[in-house]
Amino acid sequence: MGKQVIIVGGGATGVSLFSRLSRVAGISTISLIDPNPVGLGTAFGTTDPLLLCNTSVDVTSMDPDGESDLLGYLAARGWPVHRDDFVPRYLIGQYCRERFLERRREAEQAGVRVRHYLTRARSMSPVGTEGYSVELADGRRITGTDVFLCLGLDRPVIPDVVRPHLGNPALATSAYPVEDLSRLSENSRVLILGSKLAAIDAALVLARSRHRVVMASGSGALPAVRTRLRRPKAPRLDTSAWKALSPDSPSLDQEVTRLLLTAVAQAANGTALRSQTSSAARSAERLAEELEIAMTGRAHWQDTIAEIIQVVNHISAGWRHTTRSAVLNRYRHLVARYISAIPVRNARLLLGHLTDGTLSVVPGIPQSVTPVADGKGWQVSWEGSTAERFDHIVCATGYHKPEIGWLPDGTLRLDGAAGTEIDLRVSDELRVCDPLTGDPERIWVLGAASHRRMAIVNYLNTAAHQSKAVAARFDVANSETTSPAGRLT
Ligand SMILES: Cc1cc2nc3c(=O)[nH]c(=O)nc-3n(C[C@H](O)[C@H](O)[C@H](O)COP(=O)(O)OP(=O)(O)OC[C@H]3O[C@@H](n4cnc5c(N)ncnc54)[C@H](O)[C@@H]3O)c2cc1C
Repeated sequence: MGKQVIIVGGGATGVSLFSRLSRVAGISTISLIDPNPVGLGTAFGTTDPLLLCNTSVDVTSMDPDGESDLLGYLAARGWPVHRDDFVPRYLIGQYCRERFLERRREAEQAGVRVRHYLTRARSMSPVGTEGYSVELADGRRITGTDVFLCLGLDRPVIPDVVRPHLGNPALATSAYPVEDLSRLSENSRVLILGSKLAAIDAALVLARSRHRVVMASGSGALPAVRTRLRRPKAPRLDTSAWKALSPDSPSLDQEVTRLLLTAVAQAANGTALRSQTSSAARSAERLAEELEIAMTGRAHWQDTIAEIIQVVNHISAGWRHTTRSAVLNRYRHLVARYISAIPVRNARLLLGHLTDGTLSVVPGIPQSVTPVADGKGWQVSWEGSTAERFDHIVCATGYHKPEIGWLPDGTLRLDGAAGTEIDLRVSDELRVCDPLTGDPERIWVLGAASHRRMAIVNYLNTAAHQSKAVAARFDVANSETTSPAGRLT
C-alpha cells in the first residue's frame, strides 16, 4: 500500500505542494483538509478586482524557477500580461484552483485517491508506527502516513483597545472578506486600524464607495511604492559574504546594514539611496514623492528585494528561532515598507483619495473606543486631542502566525491560540521534531507555518521554493521505509 498523505490547508501553498506530490510515485491517497474551496485562501480567495497582488507575476507563481508558471497560465487565457505586472489577486485564486483541478484529474487518472475534507483540522497525534491521526473540527478523524501543514494566515490580530467590543456589528475584526465592507451605510465615517497592505485594501474598497476613511497606526507610515518585484537575470548579491554572517557576531547589525546598502548601491548605478526614497514627514507628501520616484525609474532598491528575501531566508534558516526573530525585529522598521511595497496603481489611487480628502492617515493608536449611546458607532479618543465619532471600525493589524505546539500528552495542536504547549522545533528540512528525542517526524511545515525556521514566509515565492524542496526530498525518502518518528525501519 502506498503512502497516505494529508495536506492541512488548501491555499496557494497547499496547492503548490499538492501539484508536486501528485506526481510523486508511491502515494496512494492525498487528503486535503480546508473549510474553503481548494485554491481560495485568505489573500487570493477574494473576488474583488480592485485588490491587486503586491508582487509581480514573475514571483507569484507556484513554480519558483524558470519562466513564471503564472505568466504562462495568464497568457494562455489571453491576458495581456508582462512578468512585472501586478495582477488582481482573484486571478491567483483562479490560477491555484485550476492548477489544483488539473493535477487532481491527472493524479486520479494515475490511480491516486484525492479527497477534500471541508472542515478545519484541530490537532493530530501519532498512531503506532503507521502514521498520524488528524482530528477534524466536525468530530471525524483521518489517518495518514505523512502530514503537511500549510496553514497560512487566517487569525487576525485584534488590538487591545477594541477587544472589549468583539461582537459589536460596527466592528470588523478583519478587512476580509472585503465584500462585508461594501455593506456599510452610505457615507459612513470609518476608522481603519493599520496602514499596511490589508489596511490599504480596506481603504481602497471603502473610498471607492465614497465613505470617509481614517487610517491609524503606530507609525502612520504607508509602504514604499514599486513598479515591479522580479527575480534578477543574474545574481547581484555577494552570497558568500551573506553566508559568512554569524548570528552571534557582536557586529552582526553593522555587517547586515553594509550588505544591504551594498546590494542597493549595485542595483542603483550610482543613484544615491536618498534620491530613491522620500523622507517627507507627512504621509501624502511621502507617497507623492515615492510615486514620482517609482514612475521615473529611480526606485532601484526594488530590484534587490526578491534576492534579499531569498538570501535572508536561506542564511537565517539555521539560526536559532529567537536570534532570527530578534534580528528581524531590529530591521523591521528599516526594511518592512520596502519588502511589502505597494504597486504604483494602488499608490495613485491612495494619493487621489488623500488629495480629495476622502482619506487621511494618522500616526497613533486610539486611547479608547466607546460605543455611542444610540449603539450606532463609536466615540474614539486620541492622546492629546478631542474625541471623534466614527460609524465603523475595521481592524487591519495583521495576522497571528500559525501557532503549532506539542501538548504534554503527545498531541500536536494545530488550531487556536498559543497556550502552555512545549516549544516546537523544526528541522532544516522543515520537519517537526519529536519534543523528547528531537527526531524529525513525518510532519512538515510550509508557508506561514514554517515561521519557526524561515524569516520571510508571507510570500508565495517562499512557499513555492519550499514545496519544490520538500516534495523532492519526499520523493527520494519515499523509496526508503521510515517510521512516523523518522527512524529507518
Ligand atoms: C491581504 C494579503 C495580501 C497578500 N498578497 C500577496 C501577494 O500579492 N503576493 C504574495 O506572494 N503573497 C501575498 N500574501 C501572502 C500570501 O498569503 C501568501 O503568499 C499565500 O497566499 C500563502 O498561501 P497559503 O496557502 O500559505 O495561505 P492562505 O492563502 O492563507 O491559505 C491557508 C489555508 O489554510 C486553511 N487553514 C488554516 N488553518 C487550517 C486548519 N487548522 N485546518 C484546515 N485548514 C486550515 C485556511 O482556510 C486557508 O484556506 C498576501 C497576504 C495577505 C494576507
